[in-house]
Amino acid sequence: MNAHDTSQNTTLADAQSPACWAAETLRDNVLAHVQELARHPENKVPAERVLLQLTQDTDFQAVLKTWNTLNGPDRVAAWKKVLGLAEHHAREILPACVQCGECCRQGSPTLHLEDVELLHKGAIPWNAVYTLRRGEPVRSPFQTELVFLLDERIKVREKPGTMECLFLDTSLSQCRIYADRPLQCRAQACWDAGPAEDLSKQPYLTRRDLFKDVELLMDVITEHDRRCRFDQLAAAFRELDATRGASVDQVLHLLAYEDHFRNFMAEKLNIPEDHMELVFGRSFAALVQVFGCRVRTEPDGTRVLVPDRDEASPSS
Ligand code: SF4
Repeated sequence: MNAHDTSQNTTLADAQSPACWAAETLRDNVLAHVQELARHPENKVPAERVLLQLTQDTDFQAVLKTWNTLNGPDRVAAWKKVLGLAEHHAREILPACVQCGECCRQGSPTLHLEDVELLHKGAIPWNAVYTLRRGEPVRSPFQTELVFLLDERIKVREKPGTMECLFLDTSLSQCRIYADRPLQCRAQACWDAGPAEDLSKQPYLTRRDLFKDVELLMDVITEHDRRCRFDQLAAAFRELDATRGASVDQVLHLLAYEDHFRNFMAEKLNIPEDHMELVFGRSFAALVQVFGCRVRTEPDGTRVLVPDRDEASPSS
């Protein structure tokens, strides 16, 4: 090893020592350490939450404030103290919501009957929710198999392409309707799973609770549920698999029929476009993704079914 190599190694070793860190490097390393703690299987608390508690800790604030004035050995001692504080806060979670936004990034709430007033008084706009119909196929990130919903649910929308709740103000990591947040959000506690589990005893909100006084609309919803069932769609996709794509017309026919039904009725009943997913749920065409496909409209207006993530090879 030559002299140049030796000096370079010394510089690298120094840079890895807390004694040489700038305040910015200290912050980066605190963040990395807290994320590492949160990944530990025994730790169920999100990193954001631990970080928030840590930043409110006066001992940690004192380290941050004085870091640039400390000499090398004092910085090493201060870093050890920060490690201890981080571990303490990962273990001793305060039993209160600190609005870190982590739950809200993992998904939006499903509404319960008790939440109906939030819609009626406008705290949650009607176009901010949609329906998951009975029998609807869903694929959770933790399951490879499709599951079919046993009962209807009404849910707050997620931001497009994410699981993040529509009402989360991303820049502030705060709920925009915190004072009027739904029951599920009020029960959710990252330090205690108990209250959220108890919620399963509370009745869920359904379209019947919302539209029971609008008889004609309820008739149309019932008819749509009867004529456009998810078991028909699932069976058509099973057939598509069995016939290696030869029965694609059967799937396309179901998509076209469901599309026609919802659009025809929406026009007749004057249903605004942004209320359609509340009234009729998500369209068949939007849901083919859970079967690994997607609908593509050709320049001449015809629709073809293509494998998801594969623009180049249509199956029809
Ligand atoms: S409604 Fe508010 S508290 Fe509930 S998930 Fe959305 S952003 Fe979070």
